[in-house]
Amino acid sequence: MRLHTANDVRMKVRRLREGHGYIMTVEIISVGTEILLGNIVNTNAAYLAEKCAAIGLSCYYQEVVGDNEERLTGILQTALARADVVLLSGGLGPTQDDLTKETAAKVLGRELYLHEPSKAAIADFFRKRGTEITENNWKQAMVPEGCIVVDNPNGTAPGIIMEDKGRHVLLMPGPPDELIPMFENAMIPYLNSLQPGIIYSQTVKVCGVGESKVEAMVEDLIREQSNPTIATYAKTGEVHLRVTARAADEKEAKKLVKPYVKELKGRFGNHVYTTQEEVTLEKAVIDLLLANHLTVGTVESCTGGLLAARLINVPGVSEVFKTGYITYSNKSKRKLLGIKKTMLEKYGAVSPQIAKEMAKGAALFGKADVTVGITGVAGPDGGSEEKPVGLVYIACNVCGRINVKECHFSGNRMKIRESSVSSALSLMRESILAYYSEVTFGKKS
Ligand code: ATP
Ligand code: MG
Repeated sequence: MRLHTANDVRMKVRRLREGHGYIMTVEIISVGTEILLGNIVNTNAAYLAEKCAAIGLSCYYQEVVGDNEERLTGILQTALARADVVLLSGGLGPTQDDLTKETAAKVLGRELYLHEPSKAAIADFFRKRGTEITENNWKQAMVPEGCIVVDNPNGTAPGIIMEDKGRHVLLMPGPPDELIPMFENAMIPYLNSLQPGIIYSQTVKVCGVGESKVEAMVEDLIREQSNPTIATYAKTGEVHLRVTARAADEKEAKKLVKPYVKELKGRFGNHVYTTQEEVTLEKAVIDLLLANHLTVGTVESCTGGLLAARLINVPGVSEVFKTGYITYSNKSKRKLLGIKKTMLEKYGAVSPQIAKEMAKGAALFGKADVTVGITGVAGPDGGSEEKPVGLVYIACNVCGRINVKECHFSGNRMKIRESSVSSALSLMRESILAYYSEVTFGKKS
């Protein structure tokens, strides 16, 4: 929604305070010529955007602007005309090119004054480190009239909060080790205090369905969303859907979230591997193995142990993990897994047949119930027209029943290897679930 007058803003904030479920909008401005030139990666914006979504703010725009007063003035005025909250990061330092605070104060028509507690904090900061204060450091103790000054225990520039005609401008230092604790400890509580009630969210984690398909499957829910909101986050090989509601208390918020979580579970069925924040895909796989008293083994070629490493990340894996082979060469595939030379010559190492033989060999020699074989072309070299870079075969054996999946991944070598591991974990889940539904209930149509 576009805001035209200060009165619109006041009306909106009143509706918000009265609890009409209005979702505040936030705009993130990252200040710094270094970001603009690509010398540093803008991790602050990603961090702030994700945190804002988690506390129920809608972010419609983000900008990067250099250390330039005129352009920063322009973008700040634009942001103030359309967002309830404007977050600025960077440019609070002591040098001449740090001009965020001075510019923001000017835009809001405020003078700067010397804030004695900040001056004392800066002196203390230098004293503790045993370093000399330079004259320009006092610039950081100058703050705009009528602002809230936010402590920065990890640096010298304090954070600043200014309220102006129902809009909120929050200034934070650029270094992430200063910005993150300040945002968590001071800015989030401030932003939460602007919105009635509490925020509650639950994440539905989906694997084995591509990002665009997931988005298409929830498009109607996202289009109609208000409270709760639904946001999708694509990870390698999985997609997380976060349902977030704002309500007077936790019970009420949970009540709002519950039907949406149920709806998503219905839409994605077995592809939902958890609705718990702390459960990872590898943990879901290990839990499934534990629940069914199954042991596991891996045989990896192009992933070189990454699958085993992810499984072994999960505490308690020793109950189920037997052996992890890395059979990179054809010779090791023959020697360790008993794969016939004639098969390797006939089909090639990257083939569904060899993936299957790898999984079978791990079951036979590694004595595990569930075994996975991964073989593929991770690139950048070694691809051919018939077997291009990114072609990966994954075989999963569950007690003698083997599923083979052909995958086509894109990206660099590491990305292809990580995608292979995520797909292998998804395939393991699918294969174990399918095995039990077939064994217990007969084959489903
Ligand atoms: P300082 O007092 O260090 O000058 P500052 O608030 O003026 O802090 P900047 O000068 O803009 O901030 O940036 C200082 C450093 O902080 C950068 O060199 C970079 O390492 C980091 N930084 C700044 N902005 C970002 C960003 N958007 N994302 C990640 N890191 C950032
Ligand atoms: Mg600086």
